[in-house]
Amino acid sequence: MDIPESNHEPAASSLLRQIPAVDELLNRPALRELEGRVGHRLVVEATRTVLQGLREEISRGSLSQVSAEWLEAKILEEAEAVTAFSLQPVINATGVILHTNLGRAPLAPEALAHLVQAAAGYSNLEYDLERGERGRRDVHTDGLFGRLLGSERVLVVNNNAAAVFLALNTLAEGAEVIVSRGELIEIGGSFRIPDVCAKSGAVLREVGTTNRTRAGDYAAAISERTRVLLRVHPSNFRIVGFTERPTLPELAELAHKHNLLLMEDLGSGCLVDLTSCGVRDELPAAMSLQAGADVVTFSGDKLLGGPQAGILVGKSEPLERIRRNPLFRALRVDKLTIAALEATVSLYLQGRLDSIPALRMMRLGKQEIALRAVRLAGRISAHTGFSAVLRDGDSVIGGGSTPGQTLETCLVAVRHSRHSAAELEEMLRRQKPAILGRVEQNEFIIDLRTVGEDQEDKIAQAFERLTICD
Ligand SMILES: *Cc1c(COP(=O)(O)O)cnc(C)c1O
Repeated sequence: MDIPESNHEPAASSLLRQIPAVDELLNRPALRELEGRVGHRLVVEATRTVLQGLREEISRGSLSQVSAEWLEAKILEEAEAVTAFSLQPVINATGVILHTNLGRAPLAPEALAHLVQAAAGYSNLEYDLERGERGRRDVHTDGLFGRLLGSERVLVVNNNAAAVFLALNTLAEGAEVIVSRGELIEIGGSFRIPDVCAKSGAVLREVGTTNRTRAGDYAAAISERTRVLLRVHPSNFRIVGFTERPTLPELAELAHKHNLLLMEDLGSGCLVDLTSCGVRDELPAAMSLQAGADVVTFSGDKLLGGPQAGILVGKSEPLERIRRNPLFRALRVDKLTIAALEATVSLYLQGRLDSIPALRMMRLGKQEIALRAVRLAGRISAHTGFSAVLRDGDSVIGGGSTPGQTLETCLVAVRHSRHSAAELEEMLRRQKPAILGRVEQNEFIIDLRTVGEDQEDKIAQAFERLTICD
């Protein structure tokens, strides 16, 4: 800096003297109103933070005047930032339906209503109203899953990772579990079958090869230490080409001949045939039970379209043992999850699949999406600098289900005369609510499959705000 410090000093000290006192600021009507909403302490803290920042700016010489109005606006902003929720709604325009980073399955209105009711008051969570005595929280989902899947027993835990861990810990701690090398998967977020097995205290016995494993490979590995044959759904990848693996009935026969249990981790898991939703290769959990699996685990918030949960279904004997494991208590779900799950599963029982948002999104046809895309593209192109065109593309189901399988969609591809697609992506991500799309070949891509019709206005308005700020 060429300017001698002394040149700044008089200006800085006079600016510092102009800073209003804290009490004076707090008496301004807008801040008193703020105090009424968020309390005295937060307003004082916000005021101090803003004044501190102001003093620093003055001593850096980057301010030429101080006004109480400006300070007031800053304090309101600061208090708002402190009280704003960290968990915010976002608009998912990525076209990934079960987007793990964005909270997977949105809940059905029926599930929300039941959840709110359970959350707001008391319920018979663990109270048997018939007998007037303590009951079990499992009963609320037992009957529904039993009817849908023909399962003897149902347990619900925090997520499917917990379900797999708990089952292995109960059924095979200190003993061996046999798994095909083609199924030693990682599904992200540090869930790896070998690691989960190790943590559960079970010893993993790998058999076969990556692409081919036969029933004979399992048979040869069975010893007096074996307790479980584990089949794992490969979830987010596929082995194609020269492949082989035994059918589930073959494995069940082998397991039962040796008095072992057959467990299947379905991963996503569905309750009914979802071919009409564009889901191929995913068999309903009931098929696994019919094929002879003793314990089957799957997620509540993947293809099922409900809340985060891990569901264990199957035969009473192993499930009763799992329930008695002290870890079950540590991994069990709360009343909110039970309410949301019960209401979601009830929709399946009633055949109302279109009420489940994730399934409805899967069922949307390309034509239907295209009509909405035309409308939105028109609204975006109406703003100076923006152009939006339609492109053919693909949506994905996500959540580790149906890899390599896509749903045809119609995309809105947006460009700006001066901003790159990466810049657009950032500007839209910083809107409230944030709009999250994809960037492909210098276009910002919006897939309306995962956007609610009521959210289209919000997207159009965000583009309008971008035009005005430009
Ligand atoms: C997703 C998945 C899990 C984990 O389920 P969460 O509900 O995310 O804990 C476990 N196994 C398989 C095969 C999966 O696809």
